[in-house]
Amino acid sequence: MPTNPNKPTDEYEGEYTTIRLPKELVEAIDKILRRGLMGYKSRAEFIKEAIREKLRAMPPEVVGEPLEHFNICEEGVRVLDRSINKPKGYIVDVYFKPENAWCEYCESTDCKHVQFALSLPEVQKILKRKGWKIRLKNLETGF
Ligand SMILES: [Zn+2]
Repeated sequence: MPTNPNKPTDEYEGEYTTIRLPKELVEAIDKILRRGLMGYKSRAEFIKEAIREKLRAMPPEVVGEPLEHFNICEEGVRVLDRSINKPKGYIVDVYFKPENAWCEYCESTDCKHVQFALSLPEVQKILKRKGWKIRLKNLETGF
């Protein structure tokens, strides 16, 4: 990402970063702090908890480690999943079959590894060439 030396963005200081927030959000937090009912002692404490709550509520495919394809061939795809065997990750084999794709790790035709493998354009090309009609679920809605 290019940085403009004249335009300050977030400031880093050791393990901490400074972020600018809209005034009205900070005023809403200050109002809560002044009431003193929830036990918050600072804006930072309140905001940290709010962000942690937000992160907990997000689906794993958004906050988790992304999957990476490691190797693609006619028989299948090797998918690197860094959420297994952290931090190195684990290579999961997904095999193509005429009617579906099979994940060896999950023993499933419908896990995140299969969905990821089928979403790769290179894989779609291979399946098209073979004339295999593997149904790809909509990755966003899950249907
Ligand atoms: Zn799987």
